[in-house]
Amino acid sequence: MKSIHQGSCHCGKVRFELQADINQATECNCSLCLRVGALWHGTPDSKLRILSGEEELEVYQFHTMTAMHYFCRHCGVHPFSRPRIDPRIWVVNLRCVHEIDLSSVRVSLFDGRNWESAAKALLETR
Ligand SMILES: [Zn+2]
Repeated sequence: MKSIHQGSCHCGKVRFELQADINQATECNCSLCLRVGALWHGTPDSKLRILSGEEELEVYQFHTMTAMHYFCRHCGVHPFSRPRIDPRIWVVNLRCVHEIDLSSVRVSLFDGRNWESAAKALLETR
């Protein structure tokens, strides 16, 4: 039984619920994630529920136009994305999840700046 976590963007229009045991996150150094500063937690599609504000979300795409980076059109915060490595899953920005202790989360680096080789290495370890 996984815990249910609540999260939101900054202004609170976008609210979501994540069903996960959160002990791990990925920091990506691609040109976007570097600027956003997100800590991403990958989760299957069925474990993220958008509770409100779906209509307030905008999508930002760049380069291969595969990943879908959602952000709130009011406050600009990026709560979750569909990652390029597998756009069927979600990656949730743990900085938008309420009441979790980020210091207890193990952070691994994804070298998104060299996406092709980083993705190949990651898929080989699975
Ligand atoms: Zn917002």
